[in-house]
This record gives sequence, structure tokens and C-alpha cells, in this order.
Amino acid sequence: MDTVCIKDLKKDLKKEMDDSRYEHTIGVMYTCAALAMRYGYDLEKAMLAGLMHDCAKCMPNAKKLKVAEKNHLEISNLERKNPFMLHAKLGAFLARKKYDIDDEEILDAIRWHTTGRPNMTLLDKIVYIADYIEPKRDKAPNLPLIRQLAFTDLDQALIKILEDTLGYLGDSPDDVDYMTKMTYDYYKKGE
Ligand code: FE
Ligand code: FE
Repeated sequence: MDTVCIKDLKKDLKKEMDDSRYEHTIGVMYTCAALAMRYGYDLEKAMLAGLMHDCAKCMPNAKKLKVAEKNHLEISNLERKNPFMLHAKLGAFLARKKYDIDDEEILDAIRWHTTGRPNMTLLDKIVYIADYIEPKRDKAPNLPLIRQLAFTDLDQALIKILEDTLGYLGDSPDDVDYMTKMTYDYYKKGE
């Protein structure tokens, strides 16, 4: 953890991202910090995970595929069709290889930030939810409710986000990431 420094990473990311992606990134970082305060998680780790969650997002799609292939990352058919979906997997890879982050909990939170997964860690949930509710977000339905829920009942916030995400994608079932569905089923059952 002491080998990587948030200040330097911020500088690197600012160079690689367009303005709106960078703003989103900083929003997620501080929202992660707020949720970590609320739920008693390590602030530094939460901020680092939030800062790095979209580190592969601004890579052109063709390059995403190329880098993933070259490094033998598994690519599903859905990801091949929609390479932007690779940015979570690729982000975890780059965070480790390029930015020297070796904390597995942080790498996992980056890896699963787009779909969630069954049995998420606290940090997985913090990043997943922060990504959805950070202050710059304005398109998703139910944002005021979910923002409040995030600070009162983390799992309920998670379920609501998954539900709304599946609802959106529901019209084109081919594009529903199967992991999002698995995550939703897992948490819905656990209620
Ligand atoms: Fe993302
Ligand atoms: Fe994001």
C-alpha cells in the first residue's frame, strides 16, 4: 500500500481520461470514502479502489480487445461484441501491472464493479454503489432513494441498483450480463 500514492495516481489518470470521466472518477473516490466512513472500512483502500475503478475505461475499444487478448484475459462473446464491457476486467489487470496495486481486495472491487458478483465483499459493494450514486450521476431512475438507502442499508441499495440495471437491460435480454443476473438472484434470495 505504501508503494502507491493516491496523489500520483490522480495525476496519471487525469492525463489519460477525458474531463467528464475524470470528474466521475473523483466523484466515485469521495463517495467510496463516505461509504467507508459509514460502514467502517479502511478509507485509504476505499478511495484507492474508487480512484482506479475506471482506469481502463478510456482505452479505445479496439485496444481493449487487443490488450485483453495479448494478456490471455478471458473474453466472452458479449464482451467481444461490446468491448467497453471489458473495462472492469482490464482495469483490474492494469491496476496490478501498470499501477502496481497488489491488494487483492482492491483488485477484486475493480474487477466486479460493473456487474457485482454473488457474495460481494464490503469493498466490492462500496465501489459498485459509489459508481452508481456519485454526485455527477443524473440519469438513473430512483437516484434520490438509492442515495439515501446507500447510507442506511447497503444491501438494499445494492438490490435496488441491480434491479434497476436489469430493468433497463431487460428489453434486450442478450445484453444482460449473466453475472448481473446471478448477483441479483443471490441477494434477492438472501433478503
Ligand atoms: Fe466502470
Ligand atoms: Fe465508473
